[in-house]
Amino acid sequence: MPRVDERNVVILGSGPAGLTAALYAARANLRPLVLKGIDAGGQLMLTTEVENFPGFPDAVLGPELMEKMEKQASRFDAELFHQEATRVDLSSYPFGVWSGDEEWRARSVIIATGATANMLGIESERRLLGHGVSTCATCDGFFFRGQELVVVGGGDSALEEALFLTRFATRVTVVHRRDQLRASKIMQDRAFAHEKISFVWDSVIEEVLGDGSVAGVRLRNVKTAAAQELSAAGMFVAIGHSPNTKLFDGQVELRNGYVVVDEPGSMTSVEGAFAAGDVVDMVYRQAITAAGMGCKAAIDAERFLEARGH
Ligand code: NAP
Repeated sequence: MPRVDERNVVILGSGPAGLTAALYAARANLRPLVLKGIDAGGQLMLTTEVENFPGFPDAVLGPELMEKMEKQASRFDAELFHQEATRVDLSSYPFGVWSGDEEWRARSVIIATGATANMLGIESERRLLGHGVSTCATCDGFFFRGQELVVVGGGDSALEEALFLTRFATRVTVVHRRDQLRASKIMQDRAFAHEKISFVWDSVIEEVLGDGSVAGVRLRNVKTAAAQELSAAGMFVAIGHSPNTKLFDGQVELRNGYVVVDEPGSMTSVEGAFAAGDVVDMVYRQAITAAGMGCKAAIDAERFLEARGH
């Protein structure tokens, strides 16, 4: 039997949470191993300009920011592999982590596998993602000053995005597939009362129109089958997020699919397993909050290892 490589810290994921955890763990001399995953860099790889990450007064492109974070972590002896964890065993200690046939033992793990915004799944949406199609109003709303926008969804997120976008847009149309919102009463009241927000009910997006950038959407009424076109410079998809927790299902405590941590710390229900970023957070979901949580997780892991004499 070949000897299995045993590590102080294995970090799963390479968004702002994973890479900040890697930076801190590396600077603490823990020589972290980062399994970056297939979609390395996380959700920021799908955005264009990031204007709200402190330290970049002239904005930075999402992919460029992730490249810089990776470079910074590598400088301090973090080892990063562009492969994903395919299996994790948190029931034995040291924990087991696999990527295909490769196996590691980990004295601590940091789960930073993020979340994925649910998408409609149509071709034009994919093609125009980052070019007018967005899943984050706080990230991209600013670029649509004085324009008309569409928000898809009927939950709290959709209304929150719509309300936020009224700061920039001249008109925000919420397109919902039913004639009743799922959102809380208070959010509904706010949205209904807002002069810039209107609703199109019982309708789904059939196509995002535009070549190179969004020009509008074509809708279909699901009750009457009638088609309708709306002009818009952007479409914000707000139909929920799915945390990437499949690997940990049944191993750590989850709530609504998100990993539960012992706030204000970052320990999961399994001692020595920590979690950070969007895989934990259904509320803020910002690059900067994820980075902060990654920092916390690395410090918590360091203290855990120290207490165990590693
Ligand atoms: P959500 O509550 O699951 O709502 C998702 C919405 O998207 C639903 O209206 C759903 O329609 C629609 N939808 C789902 N798949 C769709 C598809 N393929 N095509 C068209 N529409 C689709 O998700 P969320 O709004 O992201 O909220 C998640 C959780 O976070 C909720 O518990 C929410 O209360 C909370 N949250 C709270 C706040 C706040 O309090 N300020 C803000 C954001 C989120 P149906 O209604 O027909 O199912």
